[in-house]
Amino acid sequence: DLPEVSTPWEIVDSEDQLYAEVVFNLPMLKSYHYLVPSGLRDNIRPGSRVRVPFGTGQKLTQGYCVSLTRTRPAHRNFKSIESLLDAAPLVDAAMLRLTRWISEEYLCSWGQVLDSVIPAGVKSKAGTRELLHFELAEGYETRLTTLKLSATQQRIVDVLRSTTGPMAGDELTSLAECGLSPLQTLRNKGIVVATKIRTWSKSVSSVGENDTSAILLNRNQHSAVTRVIESLASGKSETFLLYGVTGSGKTEVYIRVIEEVVRYGRQAIVLVPEISLTPQTIRRFRKRFASVAVLHSHLSDAERHSYWQQIARGQVQVIVGARSAIFAPAPNLGLVVIDEEHETSFKQDSTPRYHAREVARQRVRDAGIPLILGSATPTLETWLRGIRKEEIVLSLPYRVAQRPLPPVMIVDTRNDQSLQKGASLGRALLVAMRESLAKKGQIILFLNVRGYSPALFCRACGQSVRCPDCDVTLTYHKQRQIALCHSCEYSIDPPTSCPNCGKPGLLFLGQGTERLEHELKARFPGVSVLRMDSDTMQQKGSHDRALESFRQGEVRILLGTQMIAKGLDFPNVTLVGVIDADTSLHQPDFRASERTFQLIAQVAGRTGRGELGGKVLVQTACPDQPAILYAARHDYAAFARQELEHRHTLGYPPFVRILRIILRGEIEADVEKAAERIRVGLESKGLERVGIQAKILGPAPCPVARLKKYFRYQLQLSHPSGEVLGQLWREVEPIVPELTPVEISVDLDPISF
Ligand code: ADP
Ligand code: ZN
Repeated sequence: DLPEVSTPWEIVDSEDQLYAEVVFNLPMLKSYHYLVPSGLRDNIRPGSRVRVPFGTGQKLTQGYCVSLTRTRPAHRNFKSIESLLDAAPLVDAAMLRLTRWISEEYLCSWGQVLDSVIPAGVKSKAGTRELLHFELAEGYETRLTTLKLSATQQRIVDVLRSTTGPMAGDELTSLAECGLSPLQTLRNKGIVVATKIRTWSKSVSSVGENDTSAILLNRNQHSAVTRVIESLASGKSETFLLYGVTGSGKTEVYIRVIEEVVRYGRQAIVLVPEISLTPQTIRRFRKRFASVAVLHSHLSDAERHSYWQQIARGQVQVIVGARSAIFAPAPNLGLVVIDEEHETSFKQDSTPRYHAREVARQRVRDAGIPLILGSATPTLETWLRGIRKEEIVLSLPYRVAQRPLPPVMIVDTRNDQSLQKGASLGRALLVAMRESLAKKGQIILFLNVRGYSPALFCRACGQSVRCPDCDVTLTYHKQRQIALCHSCEYSIDPPTSCPNCGKPGLLFLGQGTERLEHELKARFPGVSVLRMDSDTMQQKGSHDRALESFRQGEVRILLGTQMIAKGLDFPNVTLVGVIDADTSLHQPDFRASERTFQLIAQVAGRTGRGELGGKVLVQTACPDQPAILYAARHDYAAFARQELEHRHTLGYPPFVRILRIILRGEIEADVEKAAERIRVGLESKGLERVGIQAKILGPAPCPVARLKKYFRYQLQLSHPSGEVLGQLWREVEPIVPELTPVEISVDLDPISF
């Protein structure tokens, strides 16, 4: 190696130089090396943020130090780190490995991943302040021999003598019962010194209620618990699919296993789909464990920072949260649980587009601990792994206390006159509702469309009123008196005549929850009805309040969107009605069938949980669809078998993985041209160089071809190996900068189209 001497930064004798590898929160797959100046050497650690000169103009830019080395990297010029932003690293070595894995798997930059998984409050050190702390000065005793102290001053000295380390000003003045001026005097006399220290302005407690009331596990629960506990002791990283029908006692299994984890002084992470939708589950965890941190979206930055610190110090036993809780910095993690693993909210839909289940797999592999995935309707990805014996299936085939699964009736809406005329509640459903109310039962009605009607339709020209910026029809909201785009929030006063042809007399087509609420009030006067959708549940705590009034029986009929489809456990619900099962069937998505099955099975799970029993009514215009038929029979296994065959024939996941490349820009021709260049790139260099048969679909306009003024095109690559897809993309990625202003993003294992 020839010594290169070109800049003052060059090192001839690299023996005792230290280099930091730095990544940035920018869309670049590369990292950069910087020289660590001697002043920072003792304090810099991987996982700390630094400020370094970067890019054109060498602007000072914030980055993350991800590794340190004494070996001189193969590079010409080294710039120096300008400053260190964190006294202690924000993430540990395991989290650095995990975030690196995410960046490689999901084809985004390591810096972007780090920036996204570290909460804003941790980065800004929210909730901490620089407070003056006081301690006795060196050699204060000699100085005291020549000084006469007042009684107050003496108290201060006594308090400081009795403690070790610096003490915050307000604590000191309260213990010594004094003001700030005697403290100042002592400082001036050189008895006391002051330093500024960052500390909590307020601490957040997370201590639970603790309830030891025990449930006697049934045989299936017992063998599931035993099997996972065996795994805990083995140090192996096994994945379990806890496949249990709704109401089979899955949560109780998680709790028992976690009790064992906690007994060994380790921590558990429990991921749930959406915190606000699972107050009952949270309550159960709080009751059974002494310290539970619930990471929900309403936490302030300061609270989140405090939780992060408490978790990192090992003071929290159980961490319950949505997707991002998989990054909780538990130092001695013993178990990860993902409840309702089939839920789509575990996938992040912005960069980094990770799936929390896959991140969890990686984290448990690295830590050598087990993972439990729980569901009554697992994703076919997870189910196939079970079939292939890559994970261990633990079944809970029955509901607790010998309660049967509810009978499901399918109602063909094409045979019902009133439904043809625009009503939402068919004859059969009305009969069942009256019966249920007469027997003092409660009812849940499910309709996955919010607003009054999803289309304003003109009979004269046959067009619906559309958003000017999106490829979407406007939804009429009666209460707010607007026509609203659900993609971009664009809204107008409800038009009285057609914006296309000017003719009056628009029709309100289709049913939304608001319209259903009107119909219910007209049909059942005097019966209390509660609507839960994102329009009525805006305020913090509104979910909790709504569900509480349903539990108390103040509300007899609960209607809502998917918000009410999961997790709820109310023994008094004797009827569940699915108003329109076809909305999810007709999505332009190869998973439409799977989603429909999941939805019906999950809403059916909300009834028949108590002594009164229950039943389900599904209104559909497609009563012969396998998803609906199998769901009515509660036969997940048969549905999965048929659907897997179908996917296999068509070459869809889980037999291949998909890399979706999305392009967007304001001029359609540009977007189309860019998409074409990507395709040519993939075909010429990519496929040839990588030398494998990946399938390319497209380019074609996205199913929603225009969104927020942007035209959107997509390409889809598919191949059984994600690694191969990654390799292919890396071959083509260098041309991306040439395609600006068209923006390009990639999504591995996309779940929405
Ligand atoms: P899942 O998560 O599978 O839907 P849960 O764990 O919520 O089921 O259990 C449903 C209800 O049954 C809960 O109220 C729970 O307390 C109760 N439960 C769980 N296990 C048992 C059992 N072995 N015996 C009696 N009740 C049980
Ligand atoms: Zn719009």
